Order: sequence, then structure tokens, then C-alpha cells
Amino acid sequence: MNILVINAGSSSLKYQLLNPETQEVLAKGLCERIGIDGKFTYKPANKEAIKDADVAMPTHSEAIQTVLHALVDEHNGVIASMKEIDAVGHRVVHGGEAFSGSVLITEDVMNALEECIPLAPLHNPANITGIKACVEVMGKEVPQVAVFDTAFHQTMPAVAYTYALPYEFYQQDKVRRYGFHGTSHKYVSQRAAAMLGKPIEELKLISCHLGNGSSITAIQGGKSMDTTMGFTPLAGVPMGTRSGDLDAGIIEYLMNKHGYDIKEMLNILNKKSGVLGISGVSSDFRDLEDAAEKGNQQAQLALDAFDYSVKKFIGAYAAAMGGVDAIIFTAGVGENGVTTRANIVSGLEYMGVKMDAEKNNTRGKEVDVSADDATVRILVIPTNEELMIAMDTATIVGK
Ligand code: AMP
Repeated sequence: MNILVINAGSSSLKYQLLNPETQEVLAKGLCERIGIDGKFTYKPANKEAIKDADVAMPTHSEAIQTVLHALVDEHNGVIASMKEIDAVGHRVVHGGEAFSGSVLITEDVMNALEECIPLAPLHNPANITGIKACVEVMGKEVPQVAVFDTAFHQTMPAVAYTYALPYEFYQQDKVRRYGFHGTSHKYVSQRAAAMLGKPIEELKLISCHLGNGSSITAIQGGKSMDTTMGFTPLAGVPMGTRSGDLDAGIIEYLMNKHGYDIKEMLNILNKKSGVLGISGVSSDFRDLEDAAEKGNQQAQLALDAFDYSVKKFIGAYAAAMGGVDAIIFTAGVGENGVTTRANIVSGLEYMGVKMDAEKNNTRGKEVDVSADDATVRILVIPTNEELMIAMDTATIVGK
């Protein structure tokens, strides 16, 4: 079975053709500058790659057509015809409260997706455009499945998702914690259960997805119980450029003091804050580590503030679940940030978390990096959202 996984942005489209059973990636790549001039990248397994080719892509439909042509191309294609694509799995950012799992896309589902647009005005329209383009180019006979970033977190109890605001804002305006990175947290939690050789139903896990965007999730019995991102992906720990949690009173204070309008203020919170904001150096953890090593104290403070915040949530979620069996590190920083991982767990020995420094000297591989006598495992698990989307899509289509 071959699944085409699509992650459509407003002017870009990431794709991957893979077999969820063998986990083999047949080809992957990226369409960029859609609606501008069009750049196409295609990497087939074991064949010649195309990089940054100029291809006119006035809309997402031409982008999908370009992808399909490359996949069936007689020289460096990977399938004989489009018939070898069994289904398409689309990453959709926001499913609101309407979707607690992946779904086969029907007209009703499309209408429900449109209703979720106010919750993710930057992302959902692009995801919907990607779906429409696939249906247009591939025809209605190829099943399309939506896999949501928010769906995994729909199991959170009301105590975790309710904000302490007048209750009608939840009832009428759907203001609540939704959480994001769900596909990643779900994937790594399943891998963690496999690594530990235990049924996921018996496990209490804390998944730390630490990348340019970061979120921590408490996962009990395979279900999300709490997560750091909220109504939007701005909440939680400090991120590359996003502030994470902050006192809402700061917003009015800074707007009054500097004459910012709300758009400027949100731009600061989304694009100029986080570790970039504190350090004044970069949003990239490698740059921050280099700068800190050279004695830049703001860069060091940014790294320390990030580690401290992640550590606090680990403590909070262990308290919320009444214990923890394993802490998972994933995404760019979680998979590669040897020092960051070590700093985050240092001081947690009292709760049975003990790292093996030698084992922790690893990057981008599935490894248990905890000391032999630790009672809480520390697992490094590379995330694979595309594979999770393909597996979900295969399950739905198989029904
Ligand atoms: P992601 O958003 O998951 O792609 O993660 C991007 C982040 O991972 C960036 O801040 C990178 O600096 C960070 N990252 C990637 N490789 C390393 C590394 N070897 N050490 C520390 N951070 C890394």
C-alpha cells in the first residue's frame, strides 16, 4: 500500500510517498513559492534528485500535478502510474472539538473543516486548499484522509483544557486548550511503548517535542491528559521565536508604553520572542550553544530559561499523572540537543530520573539514555509525523 502524505502551507507543499507497512519512503520533496514563481524539489529513493527546479505553480493544483508527474516519470519516477497511490493523508492543523481522530474526507468533513478556520486562520485554509487540489487532480476515487494536529489531545479532561475565563467563552466561542503536535506525540508514545516492551495502556509518559516549536504532553494509557500548547501554538514553553506562557497583563502594558497595535504586539510574541528574544542572537539552538560557549550571557540565559521551563512542566505532569514511567525527547532539539537534554533532566534524580551521560551522547536515533538503575526511563525517539499520517490513513482506508 502506498500513501501520499501532504502537508500544505499557504505557499508551500511538503509531500512524501511511503508504504506504511514496510515504512519505506519511495520519494519525498517540497513545492515552494506556490502562487509566486514555483520551485520544486524531489528526492526519490536511490535515484537522481531534483533540487530547486523552476516549475510554474500558480496554484496548489499545479503543485500536486508536478508531484504526480515526478512520481510516475519514466526516468526517476518511483511508481508506474497514479493507480499505485492508494490514498492521500493530509496534515490538518486544527480539528477543533469536531475531530478526535483522523477521518475520511467527505463533503460533511470539508464543511466541518471550514468551520474550524477561525481557530487556525493561518493554517487551515492552506490545508483545505491542499485537499481540494488533490481531489481536483487525482479524482474522487482516490480516498483522502485528514490527520489533525489537535486530535490526539481531545482526550484531555475538562480540568486540563478549561481556561479560567467566563464559561460562556468556552460554550459560545470554543475558547479552550486544544494542544498541537498531536501526531508527533502520538507517534513517539507508541514507539516508547514498543521500546519499553509494555502495553501503552499501562504507561505514564511525558513527551517533550522540542524543536523550533515546542510542546510537552502528559500521556497516560496512550491518551493525552494535558499539554503545554493551548488555544493556539503560542502557549507553553519558550520556543524559537514564540514567547510561550506569559502574564496577559504584559500585553496591555507594552501596547500602551510603545504604542503597538495588537497586530504588532502579536508579531512580537510570535516572531521576536522565545529564545531569539531573550538571546538577541538566534532562534536556532546550535547558534545559541555556539554563542554561549563564546561567553554570550544572554544566549546562555535563553538556553537556561528554556531548560528550566521544560523541567517545570515535567514536574507538573508527573504530579498530574501521579508518576511517570518514561520521559521522551523528540524533534530537532530533543533528538539532537545532547546538552539540552542533560540540563533538563539534571536535578530530577529525586524522582528516579537518572541519565547515563555516555548513552546520552547520541543524535537522531532511538536510544534509552537513562542509567541502568533509573526508575524512570529517558528515551530519545526521532519523530516521524509523515509515517504516523500514513499509518492513520491506511487504517482509515482499510476500514
Ligand atoms: P525542528 O523544528 O524540529 O526542525 O527543530 C529545529 C531546532 O533543532 C533548531 O533550533 C536546531 O538548532 C535544533 N537542532 C538541530 N540539530 C541540533 C544539534 N545537533 N544540537 C542542538 N540543536 C539542534
